[in-house]
Amino acid sequence: MTHRIGLGFDVHRLEAGRPCMLGGIELPHPTGPLGHSDGDAVLHALADAVLGAAGLDDLGTLFSDKDPRWKGADSAALLGECVARVHAAGWRVENVDLVIATEGPRIAPHRAAMRARIAALLGVPSDAVNLKGKSLEGLGALANGAGVAVQAVCLLVKR
Ligand code: MG
Repeated sequence: MTHRIGLGFDVHRLEAGRPCMLGGIELPHPTGPLGHSDGDAVLHALADAVLGAAGLDDLGTLFSDKDPRWKGADSAALLGECVARVHAAGWRVENVDLVIATEGPRIAPHRAAMRARIAALLGVPSDAVNLKGKSLEGLGALANGAGVAVQAVCLLVKR
């Protein structure tokens, strides 16, 4: 096998007073993702896509939200550990694509910065990382800025 794909998904509540960490950067916004770690749903979905493509354990198994060691953890560091495991398993990231569904922070103004940050964490060029924000049209439990849901796909290539 020379190529493998993986899919990741994550959802977090947005709460007042939490830093709005998404995609490895802090967005200027009055609410931020609630979580045992920094709550970065973008990096969590991405980590699960990368791990899933390599056939490795998922993020919640590697870094349990019941484990005090990961309380307040920097999700960028967790993703870095996942990428190291994927490299050790003989794979490298070819490209990733993400959908960030929220009526909390606007994604478009921060898209370029988020792509650059994620690319640096994955060790790939910025054009290997794509992402887009999507509105929820005021529907469902995530409407009115109550949360953020993220889908991610990743393609790996044999090193
Ligand atoms: Mg999460």
